[in-house]
Amino acid sequence: MTAFLFTNGRVLDPRHEGVRDGMEVLVEDGTIREVSDRPIRGADAVHVDLGGRVLMPGLIDAHVHVVAAMADLAANAAQQSSLAALRAGRIMTAMLMRGFTTVRDVGGADWGLAEAQAAGVVAGPRLVISGKALSQTGGHCDMRARADDRAPSQHRVGAMGRLCDGVEAVRLAAREELRAGADFVKVMANGGIASPTDPIHMLQFSRAELLAAVEEAVNSGTYVSAHLYTDAAIRRAVECGVHSLEHCNLIALDTAALAAAAGCVAVPTLVTYERLAIEGESLGLRRDSVAKIETVRQAGLDSLAVMQAAGLPMAYGSDLLGEMHRHQSGEFALRARVLPAMDVLRSATTVAARLCRLEGRVGIIEPGADADLIVVDGNPLDDWTLLEGQGARIPAIMQAGRFVKQELG
Ligand SMILES: [Zn+2]
Repeated sequence: MTAFLFTNGRVLDPRHEGVRDGMEVLVEDGTIREVSDRPIRGADAVHVDLGGRVLMPGLIDAHVHVVAAMADLAANAAQQSSLAALRAGRIMTAMLMRGFTTVRDVGGADWGLAEAQAAGVVAGPRLVISGKALSQTGGHCDMRARADDRAPSQHRVGAMGRLCDGVEAVRLAAREELRAGADFVKVMANGGIASPTDPIHMLQFSRAELLAAVEEAVNSGTYVSAHLYTDAAIRRAVECGVHSLEHCNLIALDTAALAAAAGCVAVPTLVTYERLAIEGESLGLRRDSVAKIETVRQAGLDSLAVMQAAGLPMAYGSDLLGEMHRHQSGEFALRARVLPAMDVLRSATTVAARLCRLEGRVGIIEPGADADLIVVDGNPLDDWTLLEGQGARIPAIMQAGRFVKQELG
């Protein structure tokens, strides 16, 4: 049995307002055993003196693509699978070292990558996966340039999604991804930036196709997540039973209220548009993609206020590609310009845990939860940049009760 007793620190748990001083936390065999404001008896435990630092749950990013080693997604999809998998492993390790102990991959990562992490083959966040995202021909996962009429590369590790057209093909693709280990089904239901031939306003998949994907997901006890920007696309997706609404930059108040009433969760990903606008082109994003960024970037911060006003829960998402992955923790400070700090914290803990269907197990510090914990050199609620800098101010990271980083001295 391996036990650790955290003492002399402050605990930041999303279910309590602010940090709590004088708390002790006992971890045994990968699980949080006890949380108390009085000294915990833990004679056999290794004592970890936090020196007044903040102990908080490991972070959860609900929108990543760990296979996206390059911003040019056509080139990414064409890589040899062995190379793409090894690159994905490096991206995963860097995420873990930023304090993200769980991530939800919404297009690309397969069961093999999730299993590689679970088995300890690669250090990384626990992966909750959709497998390949489903896209129609000419949709957000169709990375072929207009003049390219070859069959797309869509089954390699570096491909984010696969093409399917028609109700029966959508059903089959959803069933294949679920059979192969997908935890939920991802569909591209609106135009996107990184794909070359679909404008942002384009509605993707017919209602019948969306309904088929939702039926297959629900039959398997899970849900559909959809890539969405425009209000019309979001409204249609909600009406078809989609649960997880990705991006939502152009959402209007009445649609946000409809989504909230339907129990949906939104996953804004503002940091990716910031970074794409600044460095996307120099990092390989194609010119036809660069032209689309501003359509969604300006509306991003306003969309947070709209969704907050409608009571639509928001999970943390970064959606970064290639070299831009290093900005994964930049979404916190962006959101904090508009949202209360505790809501920003909940987006990357309890709300994201719900989308990962790991509620009660991750994103909280309470007895019975998995011991996914990070130690921060200060209170992120007051200064979100403490979480930036590739984990420089996160001296300790524990995942499933094991330290993956311990520099507390
Ligand atoms: Zn994405």
